[in-house]
Amino acid sequence: MFTDPTVDVLVVGAGPAGLLTTCGLRKAGVNPFLIEQSSRTSAHAYSALLHSETVDALDTLGIGVAIRERGLEIRRIQINLPAGEIIDLELDRNASPIVALPQSSLEEILLSALQEAGSRVHWDHELTDLGETKGLVAATVAEHGEVPQGYPVLALRRLVIREHCLKTRWIVGADGYHSTVRRMGGFGIDHSGAARRFWFFEAEAEGALEPLVRLWINEDGVAALWPLGGRSCRWTFESSGSIGTTGAEAVLRSLVRRRAPGYTSGIAEIKWSAGGLFESRLCSVFRKGRHVIVSDAAHLGDPIGTQSMNAGLQEAVDLVGRLAGLLNGTYDEKTLDQYSTHSIRRWKNLTCHDLKWCGEVPAWAADSLEPLLRSLPASGEPRNEFLRQLGLAPPVAAG
Ligand SMILES: Cc1cc2nc3c(=O)[nH]c(=O)nc-3n(C[C@H](O)[C@H](O)[C@H](O)COP(=O)(O)OP(=O)(O)OC[C@H]3O[C@@H](n4cnc5c(N)ncnc54)[C@H](O)[C@@H]3O)c2cc1C
Repeated sequence: MFTDPTVDVLVVGAGPAGLLTTCGLRKAGVNPFLIEQSSRTSAHAYSALLHSETVDALDTLGIGVAIRERGLEIRRIQINLPAGEIIDLELDRNASPIVALPQSSLEEILLSALQEAGSRVHWDHELTDLGETKGLVAATVAEHGEVPQGYPVLALRRLVIREHCLKTRWIVGADGYHSTVRRMGGFGIDHSGAARRFWFFEAEAEGALEPLVRLWINEDGVAALWPLGGRSCRWTFESSGSIGTTGAEAVLRSLVRRRAPGYTSGIAEIKWSAGGLFESRLCSVFRKGRHVIVSDAAHLGDPIGTQSMNAGLQEAVDLVGRLAGLLNGTYDEKTLDQYSTHSIRRWKNLTCHDLKWCGEVPAWAADSLEPLLRSLPASGEPRNEFLRQLGLAPPVAAG
């Protein structure tokens, strides 16, 4: 049994957004309670680029230094257009770098920061139901454990070993794509486009790689190469058809030959590969009563621009300040509606949803602009600066 079943903030999900929200709240003097249904954080690289603006946001919570130390700083992006034209983009010298850092390393850094701040993850605890009691949220949490089966050879089975009822003033759904908080809190989702399929290969190149993000755009979609330090790298390919990952090295070599002209560093080894379908979606609000959602629970975009996790981390930092202010009496509840409006505006801006271009749009942009915009690993002012380097005035609200 939990010793104190009433908490100020219950955070659901120990992915990057939930870890950061909990860590930030703890640093702001709040005592949040973090539950995670799995037994540990993700072991793979998954999302691996932090935008300059995200690095700035992490700096405000004192996590930026560790991020820069562990990650690879990148200041250049190379765009290869269908007709063979190459455009080089460079970050403003005063902007923080883009940092290439596997999601697993980011989660390790956030876990240590959480422990240093005096909090922890309650692993193997799954939110299963939500209700209301005396103006508070009543959360039912199933605790999982491995139970021996009593066979002569030891076999363990994962079962619910206890059920807890936790009361909380605020609940934060950082519980990802299948969010239980979103579903049970009654949040609506707007879908704004067809799902696209992507294939990921985490590989070692034969030679060292420059700190440069490379994008290739052609009729098959976008291909991207992110260096991850030394010879490690991530290849991502958008593809409407099935690529298959059996014989992954041969598949990757053939894809690189066909879709990444100009790449010369070879492929030495593949560490893992996977495929996935990514939808474009956005919740109509991020706050409903005492329920708040953040990151993948609230939106989803393409993986190459790493938009969803980066927006999510920026939202988490914003939410921390508002929740802490609300609990210490500096703000009233309207601050959470502002969090919702502000986050939706930021997402629409990032994904160019409901925006129109001002001024002249260069000729190359006719077919390449849309895939390029969803693949640029940048947000906020650094992104606007990249748009200016591409000859585009940042877009404004349509209508
Ligand atoms: C194979 C793969 C490759 C990817 N590649 C990229 C990429 O290249 N670029 C990119 O931007 N993104 C990529 N992503 C997506 C990226 O991993 C997510 O955007 C990121 O993890 C979102 O972080 P989050 O904290 O919002 O949610 P998540 O990391 O999904 O964390 C949510 C957590 O909540 C927990 N949870 C869910 N429900 C409950 C519950 N009821 N009770 C308790 N806990 C719960 C989950 O177990 C999970 O740990 C990839 C994902 C996959 C699977």
